[in-house]
Amino acid sequence: MSVEFEVQGIPVSELAERFGTPFYVYDGDVLESQFGNLRDRLHPRMEIFFSLKSNPNLAVCSLLHSFGARAEVSSMTELLTALEAGVAPGDIIFLGPGKSRAELQACLDHDVYTIVCESFGELELIDGLCAARGRPADVTLRVNPAFEVKGSGLTMGGRPRQFGIDEEQLLARPGLAGEFPNVRLMGVHAYLGTRFLSEDVIVANTSRILEMAERLSAALGFPLEVVDVGGGLGIAYFDNEGDLDHEALTDRLNPVVAAFADRHPGTRIILELGRYLTAKAGTYVVRVRYVKTSMGDNFAVADGGTNHHMAAVGIGSVIKRNFPMRSLSRIDEEPTERWYVTGPLCTPNDTIGKGVLLPPVRPGDLLGVLRSGAYGPTASPVLFLSHGAPAEVLVKDGKPFLVRAPDTPADLLRPQNPTP
Ligand SMILES: *Cc1c(COP(=O)(O)O)cnc(C)c1O
Repeated sequence: MSVEFEVQGIPVSELAERFGTPFYVYDGDVLESQFGNLRDRLHPRMEIFFSLKSNPNLAVCSLLHSFGARAEVSSMTELLTALEAGVAPGDIIFLGPGKSRAELQACLDHDVYTIVCESFGELELIDGLCAARGRPADVTLRVNPAFEVKGSGLTMGGRPRQFGIDEEQLLARPGLAGEFPNVRLMGVHAYLGTRFLSEDVIVANTSRILEMAERLSAALGFPLEVVDVGGGLGIAYFDNEGDLDHEALTDRLNPVVAAFADRHPGTRIILELGRYLTAKAGTYVVRVRYVKTSMGDNFAVADGGTNHHMAAVGIGSVIKRNFPMRSLSRIDEEPTERWYVTGPLCTPNDTIGKGVLLPPVRPGDLLGVLRSGAYGPTASPVLFLSHGAPAEVLVKDGKPFLVRAPDTPADLLRPQNPTP
């Protein structure tokens, strides 16, 4: 008998038997420790908002909310998800460069804490919507800072972007706060990138954003009721990366937050976290259907692939690196062979592991892509070849729950109409 991977003591084969493969499984204990370890040490004035973009599953959002997370949303459905998860409207912020009129109206109707506005045109639209209701909206300006940052997989500041409004353009409009009578400017937001793995870079970014917020509120004459410093805290995926040390991070970050908090006793300070909260908790589980060789390479053809886990194709434009993968059916066996792990799609891109080291793979084995709780199904072409979204399972208090049923062929056919 081989030794199997377990989630809170439940063997993965039992989960596979009960829910069918492929599926994502999220470990509620890991969600709790990712949130709790940081929360316990973070300066109490800094609030953690969960970015639903990284994992919009309702149960994941509810669980994180039960630990104390608030919500950052970017679509109508994400807004409704956060509300259904029980997040108070006063702890929800809505951002995104292309908000619809209906989304903005929903922010007003539900009275979310603030709309994070990303363009002058959006300010105008919000102003118009509020004229009708006779009460101004609380609006935070998303700023594209003049400064550039390093140390992120994807940098945002200091270059042309569709996100936010350039800092220079704001500084050039000192009368902005009075231009839109139905908009109440009350905060500053900046998001400088994702996958930051250096504590020092995060601290430096945060202090620059806090300074910028003070500069802008003084220059434009609006109160600073909230500063959202973005976040983009990463987790390690590859051999040459290391996880953030939450103790080292908070030791360095807290004094910066404390100094700002003392100067601004009434200002909310927000940290947005997506990947950091959810990634480590998730495993994408597939079952191997066939094994074969082609021109000397080993292929394990599984029942799920990039249709559910596009990110596993690899990050990095030059060399695509593999996510951490394991043979979940044989965690005691030495990884001695190189395997290409592919899915059911008819494209060579459907490869979630390229030459990964695994123990000998047999049909029926369960393989897992680890650290996959962020940007999984939500960022994958789940409709490709009409396979649909995968099942999602949450293990909480030692018990597994199906928190999203997989799409069935009927689900996929229902919204379609034949040619009239
Ligand atoms: C994507 C995004 C996040 C979440 O990013 P992570 O790297 O997953 O933490 C937070 N804020 C904004 C504005 C984003 O676009």
